[in-house]
Amino acid sequence: MSKIIINKLCIIGVGLIGGSLARALKKAGVVGEVVGAGRDVSHLKKAKALGVIDQFETDIPLAVKGCDMVVLAVPLGAMQSVFEKIAPVITNDMIITDVGSAKASVVKAAQAAFKTIPDTLVPAHPIAGTEKSGVEASFPELYENRRIIITPLETSSVAAIKKVHNMWQACGAEVVETSVEHHDEVLAATSHLPHMLAYSLVDTLAKMDAKKEIFDFAAGGFRDFTRIASSDPDMWHDICLANGDALVTMIKKFTDDLQLLSTAIEKNDSTYLKETFARAKKARDEFCENKN
Ligand code: NAP
Repeated sequence: MSKIIINKLCIIGVGLIGGSLARALKKAGVVGEVVGAGRDVSHLKKAKALGVIDQFETDIPLAVKGCDMVVLAVPLGAMQSVFEKIAPVITNDMIITDVGSAKASVVKAAQAAFKTIPDTLVPAHPIAGTEKSGVEASFPELYENRRIIITPLETSSVAAIKKVHNMWQACGAEVVETSVEHHDEVLAATSHLPHMLAYSLVDTLAKMDAKKEIFDFAAGGFRDFTRIASSDPDMWHDICLANGDALVTMIKKFTDDLQLLSTAIEKNDSTYLKETFARAKKARDEFCENKN
């Protein structure tokens, strides 16, 4: 019996996330043909040479022609222009989804481009990634045992939701559903804030006069904590702007707590320090246990 769940897939943006999706679906044997689309032919040629895509197009309306699944895996700042390009050529049997790290901005971009959001649009976000970018960094196991959050809209049809669900499940992922708003609040706390802390810490240290000495003495803990500061600056620029309100709320909350910690250190407040560290250790230990 055929395992095919997508006959013709178009990945717009064949980078880490889009490339890994194509590789995972090919490995699972559930996709017929994969068309890659993007701006730079040399990137697309590389994707084809790596076997990630079967053919490519830089003309996006042409790329999506005849596809039953279209995945936007471009930076958040490019979502609207891509929606605008596909708007005149979408059909009722073409499911459209995305992988953007913030969801309200994607819905806003779709609204602006389509005017009436099609019932085939189902936004989604894989909670998986690395600090690397580009198709060379993609790999088929990226989504195995990872969560994919889909944020169906009131307009999304049951059939479209099911097909997006099935696509991610075929990659070995656990699919969960939530609202656009809840997604953005939670991700501001668990992903977007930590990236701001890593970037900001490394930048603060890099600007100090004793920079060389500081980095020379830095050890494994510093490397662990700051790994995500090696993420693509352009991508994170877009995420900050796309989820600004929720992110600023979290930054303020964190800044208040950091100030309390600073005051406790100044006042030799051992109780506050020990209680804070013990609470944090317990929460992290529980998080790690649940992930194993
Ligand atoms: P990436 O490796 O840089 O890939 C982005 C791709 O988009 C590139 O192949 C690029 O190719 C293409 N692209 C850029 N602008 C475009 C445009 N205007 N039109 C068409 N194609 C365009 O980035 P990524 O890490 O895969 O991230 C892609 C999306 O996944 C982002 O929305 C991000 O928020 C989301 N995401 C990322 C992670 C992560 O950890 N990296 C995790 C979850 C979700 P060309 O330059 O050749 O056009």
